Amino acid sequence: MTISELRKQYIAGTLSPVTVVENSLQIIKEKDGEIHAFLDIYADESLATAKVAEQEYKNKGENTPSLLGIPVALKNNILVSGKRTSAGSKILENYIASYDATIVTRLKKAGAIIIGATNMDEFAMGSSTENSSFGPTKNPHDLSRVPGGSSGGSAASVAMGAVPVAIGTDTGGSVRQPASYCGVVGLKPTYGAVSRYGLVAMGSSLDQAGPLTRTVADAELIHNIMSGLDAHDATTIASDTYPAVTIKKSYTFGVPRDFLGVGVDADVLANFEAHIDSLKAAGHTVVDIELPLFEQGLAAYYIVMPAEASSNLARYDGMRYGLSVDGKNLLEVYEQSRATGFGAEVKRRILLGTYVLSSGYYDAYYGKAELVRHKMRAELEEIFKKVDIILTPTAPTAAFKFGAQGDPLSMYRQDIFTVPVNLTGVPAISFPMGTVEQEGISLPVGVQYIGPHGGEARLFDIGKQVYDVSLNGDK
Ligand code: GLN
Repeated sequence: MTISELRKQYIAGTLSPVTVVENSLQIIKEKDGEIHAFLDIYADESLATAKVAEQEYKNKGENTPSLLGIPVALKNNILVSGKRTSAGSKILENYIASYDATIVTRLKKAGAIIIGATNMDEFAMGSSTENSSFGPTKNPHDLSRVPGGSSGGSAASVAMGAVPVAIGTDTGGSVRQPASYCGVVGLKPTYGAVSRYGLVAMGSSLDQAGPLTRTVADAELIHNIMSGLDAHDATTIASDTYPAVTIKKSYTFGVPRDFLGVGVDADVLANFEAHIDSLKAAGHTVVDIELPLFEQGLAAYYIVMPAEASSNLARYDGMRYGLSVDGKNLLEVYEQSRATGFGAEVKRRILLGTYVLSSGYYDAYYGKAELVRHKMRAELEEIFKKVDIILTPTAPTAAFKFGAQGDPLSMYRQDIFTVPVNLTGVPAISFPMGTVEQEGISLPVGVQYIGPHGGEARLFDIGKQVYDVSLNGDK
């Protein structure tokens, strides 16, 4: 069920939060041995909180907070006081958070029940959840395939029916791409819309937390609860920072045709063309646009992100947090702790990031990537004078098999359509545009709608028109 369906039934008294939490726990028990979406489950606490919520509904009915009794799963790079926050890494395997992330404070205040922590690529580096130090998550649609990443556990937890909503983080596509692979809705908000206080930092100028849900309406509800200024994060912005977007009956969509030529699977492209046709049939305008710099996005991202990550990950030194391996002297403690605690992909990015920030290469790499990034942003602002929404597939393929993208560069190509959004700071949403058939199994694929800075309201409006309405039609 969606959040709004649950809420309606809670208020009417036809369903109780206790039953729903029991049901969530039962689904996890039945399916998660195989799928492995969760790293930790907070069963007793969830049931206790559900009992309190049930009583509150009896006393106050609809005069209760909007998420009261709604089970939520959190990616395990989001701090929950007193709970293990591993970020999918051995180095934080036994790290217990000492405070709640701002988004957790807000979700709890709205009445949400935090049911457990979901699996992820180590430090959110990856596109398949194969980089988790605790073993991969499987795609609920086909257990031989990845759920996407890095928020693969969050996407799978919603797709397997355990929770109506899970929270992920998106630095280069980690909410949208797993949403696409698992057939759910995923939002990457405008940079600064959502507080990063209490999230394990990856690329600080790129990271945003966003919801994975069954409907666009649910994503909107969750985003509106989590977003807004936060005194703990100086990069947060007020909701009126950018000019209010216009909400229209029919929108103009821009399709960056040349950019699609970078290599999209034929079956994904066919769904994308069909999606364009359905938009036209519904009275929207679809035009071709050019975003020549977007092809440079991937190259710029894989300089900026490792640079920021190498700096952010310097704090895991065997002294301050988590794993500490003995050594003859302090330097050896640093070296041994990091050598033992970090996985291969994390080490690769620390090396890359340290290199591009080194004094001899800064101008050639990091400085250039930042320049590209600013020019991309200017390019985008020009385009948004002409179109309301930019349209791309979310990812170039459907969910792939475990081990299929063994070479890091082919894995990085999964992010081709998502990283420009993080580099420029605009919001984007992914929702299903049908399925493709592979080896006799239907696999979901997502479409990405990109809006201007602060344009979430427009994405929600059109997303509900296009996607949520289609769901109701199916019922
Ligand atoms: N897949 C991308 C990467 O590996 C994006 C990760 C993310 O958004 N956290 O960097």
